[in-house]
Amino acid sequence: MPVLVMKFGGTSVATLDRIKRAAKRVGLEVAKGYDVIVIVSAMSGKTNELVGWVNETSPLYDAREYDAVVSSGENVTAGLMALTLQEMGVPARSWQGWQVPVKTTDAHSAARIEEIPPENITAKFAEGMKVAVVAGFQGVSPEGRITTLGRGGSDTTAVAFAAAFDAERCDIYTDVDGVYTTDPRISPKARKLDKISFEEMLELASLGAKVLQTRSVELAMRYKVKLRVLSSFEEPSDEAGTLVCDEEETMENRPVSGIAYSRDEAKMTLISVADRPGIAAAIFGPLSDAGVNVDMIIQNIADEGRTDMTFSCPTDQVMRAEKALQEAKDSGEINYSELVADTEVCKISAVGIGMRSQSGVASTMFKTLSDEGINIKVIATSEIKISVLIDRKYLELAVQSLHDAFELDKAE
Ligand code: ADP
Ligand code: ASP
Ligand code: MG
Repeated sequence: MPVLVMKFGGTSVATLDRIKRAAKRVGLEVAKGYDVIVIVSAMSGKTNELVGWVNETSPLYDAREYDAVVSSGENVTAGLMALTLQEMGVPARSWQGWQVPVKTTDAHSAARIEEIPPENITAKFAEGMKVAVVAGFQGVSPEGRITTLGRGGSDTTAVAFAAAFDAERCDIYTDVDGVYTTDPRISPKARKLDKISFEEMLELASLGAKVLQTRSVELAMRYKVKLRVLSSFEEPSDEAGTLVCDEEETMENRPVSGIAYSRDEAKMTLISVADRPGIAAAIFGPLSDAGVNVDMIIQNIADEGRTDMTFSCPTDQVMRAEKALQEAKDSGEINYSELVADTEVCKISAVGIGMRSQSGVASTMFKTLSDEGINIKVIATSEIKISVLIDRKYLELAVQSLHDAFELDKAE
């Protein structure tokens, strides 16, 4: 039997009614002759609540226990979805990550899937089970402990299962009807794309567009998974949603194809550090060891022999960063006069494969922001993206005005 993977995000399983609705869609695919692997998220808001409880209990928590707690939301929805399908007369069984097993690295809270042996589930399909409902977002480490794959990780679970079972397609059901030129909740003019290239989707995702987890796009690209994003609230149709596919299959050829944002960024500046060989390693080594994801970095010369070093990281890692840098200072590895944290910034990025061959994107971006009176604090560029750090209060304005400036509301 051909295998289909269907993933339902938090809003699609937020209530028992919605689980029923999702189960009906699964039933339609079973009726078409598929063996279906359903990947479920926790009910919407549940993971945030669990993360909140962990933070309240232990701000610099042990990530193994974080995983034990935050993985639990998916267990509930997996069981409920299996029960709902059984009530409909569809033979279904739930699986937690460790039962499959979804083997991951031991990088707790940000683990990577290493292997999904298909045998256990395949054997059940052979016995007549029609649907395997798998708890997304979670796996098991080589030591046998529960791991999680980072926020939004159920997308990655879904794509990894599609690859492991050579599925015909991986359908990501969510609360929007596809991938848009920017977050439709921020810009009412956002336009739905019928297709988007893996590369652009990868860049958008890694720059904050949470419609797909970055790692899921990487895996789909590597294993040639046919990946579709669609709404669980609209009538089923074969043409629905957005197909994420190879560059040659996409139609548009404009310099910028999307605007992404990341709301919770912090800008940290170490004032007056010694400007000597090895200083960057001395600063960023301890940060990396502390699990801080440093993103942008700039160094500017202050006085003779001294320099200011600025970097950005997610706001929820500021405490870890401060602790790691203070320890490095106390042990004499680095010396700085002050550490200034600006936790009120966000990152806005323009993304497009067309940037490789068309110039002028940076100047349009900077002029647009300047016309709105928005000050740029840090800039970073790569072949197909330009990112800026700005005050968070301007997030909506920046996204909307850049979307207008690059005429993303208009189809080519
Ligand atoms: P789920 O719970 O189904 O995994 P998420 O909340 O993780 O859903 O992702 C879907 C959300 O992603 C949408 O509600 C939307 O606000 C946001 N989003 C951000 N950027 C985009 C984009 N370019 N296209 C579509 N949705 C986007
Ligand atoms: N429930 C997890 C989260 O909210 C995983 C997911 O929904 O993809 O991050
Ligand atoms: Mg998600």
